Amino acid sequence: MNHPLYVHNTITRKKEQFVPINEPFVGMYVCGPTLYGDAHLGHARPYITFDLLQRYMKYLGYKVRYVRNITDVGHLVNDADEGEDKIAKQARIEQLEPMEVVQHYTVRFHKNMAQLNNEPPSIEPRAAGHILEQIEAVTKIIDAGYAYEVNGSVYFDVLKYNEDFKYGKLSGRVLDELVEGTRDLDGQDEKRNSADFALWKKANPEHIMRWNSPWGEGFPGWHIECTVMSTKYLGEHFDIHGGGMDLLFPHHEAEIAQNNACYHKEPAKYWMHNNMVTINGQKMGKSLGNFITLDQFFSGNHPVLTAAYSPMAIRFFILQAHYRSTLDFSNAALEAAGKGLQRLMAAYKTIDEIKPSATSSYDVKKLETASFEALNDDMNSPIVIAEWFDAVRAINSAKAGTETFTADDIAALKNLYETIIFNILGLKEENIGSEEGSEVMDGLMQIIIEQRKTARANKDYASSDFIRDQLAKLSIEIKDGKDKTDWTFTNN
Ligand code: ZN
Repeated sequence: MNHPLYVHNTITRKKEQFVPINEPFVGMYVCGPTLYGDAHLGHARPYITFDLLQRYMKYLGYKVRYVRNITDVGHLVNDADEGEDKIAKQARIEQLEPMEVVQHYTVRFHKNMAQLNNEPPSIEPRAAGHILEQIEAVTKIIDAGYAYEVNGSVYFDVLKYNEDFKYGKLSGRVLDELVEGTRDLDGQDEKRNSADFALWKKANPEHIMRWNSPWGEGFPGWHIECTVMSTKYLGEHFDIHGGGMDLLFPHHEAEIAQNNACYHKEPAKYWMHNNMVTINGQKMGKSLGNFITLDQFFSGNHPVLTAAYSPMAIRFFILQAHYRSTLDFSNAALEAAGKGLQRLMAAYKTIDEIKPSATSSYDVKKLETASFEALNDDMNSPIVIAEWFDAVRAINSAKAGTETFTADDIAALKNLYETIIFNILGLKEENIGSEEGSEVMDGLMQIIIEQRKTARANKDYASSDFIRDQLAKLSIEIKDGKDKTDWTFTNN
């Protein structure tokens, strides 16, 4: 490959040159969402981060198999392997079947991901579709001596594992501290040690999501699904495992232990983690009142929000920070991101208005080199964007006549825009609220409909026809109803 790509590997704590196990193929597994509610800003960040990575790898010529699961069983409300299943709890609240809950939120999740211009993964497996494989893996781990059964539940024996392998190498946590720190948790009486984690849990009579197993009716632990689905679709040793930093412990640490115990192999060559999103400096949480779903961002319909923010503004906002830095949301920051994005998008069109000169005062080749250097340096998207803001300044100056571009450079710049901004960063032009149902669009349309009504009441048909014709050019049709005037897009 022409561009040596460096990525930060969480397990070695170093930036390393990316060399695939089996070039040109790249296997990437990213932990997906537990879908018991709408996707929020905390979901946007990892999936935009790994979308950028897979887009860039495809650009570099790799054949990327991107697997991102959906957790539909086994993720309990409490990390100590106790309490209700998150999906089952939501099903009880909404009076639905658990799989209806998952289906409902999966459809909405896909819509949000498409709005953010995240390409769909190559495979999107669900945990509940892989119960047999999970039972098989748990059996193997018991047979290898690293798990034990108690009363129909199976736990991973962390101390035994630690004798043969080292537990905690990803998170850097020391086992003594883990044992010490979790001694008082409920339900630990079944576990030999408080650091042990559930591979399989016995289902109490009230538990609705249950399957037959060699240990009786139960359900899988949360961590085993990712071990099973990553190896099933990518093999026992694959290139990249990604996810949010909040998953590093215990989820990813548990995955490494399970894979070693089950297949005697390290699952991933590179572990990559994106940092967290905070809101006005605070962690997001339902109880804090700062838990904002993506739909609420897009509509502006949340008390913390002073405006609606488009999906591309959110994407741009996320790309403006390096994925390993914390990212703090505020209305001011997102508004600034929206304006920056508009400048970037407007300049692409301005290129067509530049009159070619005999020489260039701006170095397009340098922009290209700097953009790829930044991408190769562990996906340093904020540097890429900073370089492009300088290009935007040059484009606007060229239109004003204070910078010059040759005809060749104008063409090269346009090509580079398409490659870097649209194809790799995944930004795209969007019409504000270009969907029916968007509150911004509805609000604007109501103003226009009101203007047209006033014009007609004043018998100013020239104005009312003008409004109708201009809207028609935008594929918007106004429908006069008996008591209400409605509008619709004619092209979908
Ligand atoms: Zn996972």
